[in-house]
Amino acid sequence: MPRDPRYDILFEPIRIGPVSARNRFYQVPHCTGMGYARPESLAAMRGVKAEGGWGVVSTEYCSIHPTSEDDPMPSATLWDDDDVRAAASMVESVHRHGSLAAVELWHGGNAASNLSSRLESVGARSLPAWYDPVQCRVLDKADIREFRRWHLDAAVRARRAGFDIVYVYATHGYLLSQFMSPDNDRSDEYGGSLENRARLVQELIEETREAVGDTCAIAVRYSADVAGPDGRPNTDDPREMFALLAELPDLWDINITDYSYELGASRFVKEGSLEPYVKWVKPLTTKPVVSVGRFTTPDTMVRLIRQGVLDLIGAARPSIADPFLPKKIEEGRIEDIRECIGCNICSAGHRRGVMLRCTQNPTMGEEWRREWHPERIAPKGSDRSILVVGAGPAGLEAARALGQRGYAVTLAEARSVLGGRVTLESALPGLSEWARVRDWRISQIDKLANVEVFLDSELDEEQILEFGADRVALATGAAWRASGLGRWHLAPIPGCDSANVLTPDDIMAGAVPDGPIVVFDDDHYYMGSVVAERLRRAECDVTFVTPAGRVCEWAYATDEQKRAQAMLISLGVRLETGTALQSLAGGKATLVCAYTGRTRDVEVAAVVMVTSREPRDALYHALRGHIEIERIGDCSAPGIIASAVYAGHRYARAMDADFEAASFRRERAVARAKAVPV
Ligand code: ADP
Ligand code: SF4
Repeated sequence: MPRDPRYDILFEPIRIGPVSARNRFYQVPHCTGMGYARPESLAAMRGVKAEGGWGVVSTEYCSIHPTSEDDPMPSATLWDDDDVRAAASMVESVHRHGSLAAVELWHGGNAASNLSSRLESVGARSLPAWYDPVQCRVLDKADIREFRRWHLDAAVRARRAGFDIVYVYATHGYLLSQFMSPDNDRSDEYGGSLENRARLVQELIEETREAVGDTCAIAVRYSADVAGPDGRPNTDDPREMFALLAELPDLWDINITDYSYELGASRFVKEGSLEPYVKWVKPLTTKPVVSVGRFTTPDTMVRLIRQGVLDLIGAARPSIADPFLPKKIEEGRIEDIRECIGCNICSAGHRRGVMLRCTQNPTMGEEWRREWHPERIAPKGSDRSILVVGAGPAGLEAARALGQRGYAVTLAEARSVLGGRVTLESALPGLSEWARVRDWRISQIDKLANVEVFLDSELDEEQILEFGADRVALATGAAWRASGLGRWHLAPIPGCDSANVLTPDDIMAGAVPDGPIVVFDDDHYYMGSVVAERLRRAECDVTFVTPAGRVCEWAYATDEQKRAQAMLISLGVRLETGTALQSLAGGKATLVCAYTGRTRDVEVAAVVMVTSREPRDALYHALRGHIEIERIGDCSAPGIIASAVYAGHRYARAMDADFEAASFRRERAVARAKAVPV
């Protein structure tokens, strides 16, 4: 289908200093957990983005010097010729598809702990590192000259690697923003007044231009506000400083200081939410402006360009969920766009020091090590028929991908709706966008004549046998346990069998208990806080009890933790952190301090156990050995939605393939032994 002419503007080339981008789709720098450690994976993944139509493809934060490293989260590095070689392979794979490659030169300043290099970090002032008990050394004027040389050397290496756009990274609390901060009270010419605070950035822009500006565009990543509270942007200081710098670079990449808002989970932050913060920028410069907003809607993109808010549509997450988003708009296939759901599992990978993964796109991170492509998949290897039992994220993805391969697939679902846990969870407060996991898969399955879908079809052992499919994928999910079994309790909680004990499944089915409720969260991700929110909004009296130190502790990795805790506090949910539910009896819950073991009783009318899940795998155990049957997703190992989608996809790829789930190409240091001992 030809593209809708309404979207033509998105495909107009644009000049950025000495280079030209072929369209307005700009993959801004984003973390990958690959960095210096996995250059092949990185090159393949960025290449796929370029193939999918992103006119500019950027690196992640790329350290310029060993005084700035972020291990165990591997950033990119441009410290030496080996790094130049690695970067060049990413550049090549981006250039192969006609896109520009950008590099975000980074110095973390006091934010970096330098756990691997063990060098002191350096900063505008002596301040603690973000995560570790160390403070940085203050850069004096001689040090600043040295730092400028590091930056220059890295810019020259970037050019040698073939990059088209070189960043001066002046935001997100790293070294340059530490200098630019209104709090910078240095008494020399790099602190105090606005001009002094802007001096280092200005010098870097000018020096980078002088060194590489004939062939490379110079971009500045800049914050449009100074950590204003949500909805009340404080842009005065950045505006004034911007006036000094407005015409110096070739491109402005604008974001905001509060990363948990810029990278906001969809539970709290919706598409295009940065607009009120960044819209002042463009009228003050003649240079192109790019910014982000988890854009997946082409109409929003067009509006922002037409209204003069942006020149280029920046995206990290939408390009992860669908590397082919630009191509799909170009080819008039809007309904094929796999929209990001804003769960932030991608950035959690980086935070945990592993390669990024994506809930919507199971091929993300697998481009090199398994040679998975987000759009292409091998045709079927036989005429086998496959029965998929259960249409949650695992079953839907297995049926879709098997269907794409050409297999004859039957998908049977017990309920009258598809989507399994995604359908249920997306009805919880703030999670509506999660339904995209289901909706995209249904829209693709609808196009496949070889996939038949049956609703209201709860299959039992006999029916599965009778159906006679060559292979059966059991994707029947898992049920939340009422016993309280989990991390804290390895045996059922005494009293858990009383009638007033509920699970998230009951709450999702609509239960709203009367009287004081304890939500016991030993899961530590989103579910506990979302259940508490749902009940509190229904005017229940809710106490949130967790052995962890804070509400949904694991969600620090998805940048939700602070917002979730703030939400519960502001709704009036009582928080009992560092506390576990010990037992239940006679309208009382006994709570125990996780540290001292001290107990106390509280009145309780109902308890919601958010602790762990029981795989629904009875059919597997009954049928195993009689037919070819495999468990996939939560009925195999309960986990996050991303794991279920991934399991469904892997199952489909493995069908009739020479494929070992546990075997994939690895990037690792290899010892130079003379011979392999036998
Ligand atoms: P996953 O995350 O692994 O995909 P879900 O719990 O989201 O798991 O989905 C499992 C789906 O399987 C649910 O929609 C459930 O209704 C369905 N289901 C469970 N048992 C059966 C069965 N015996 N026959 C058909 N569908 C089933
Ligand atoms: Fe979007 Fe979630 Fe995928 Fe990240 S992991 S790109 S937030 S769908």
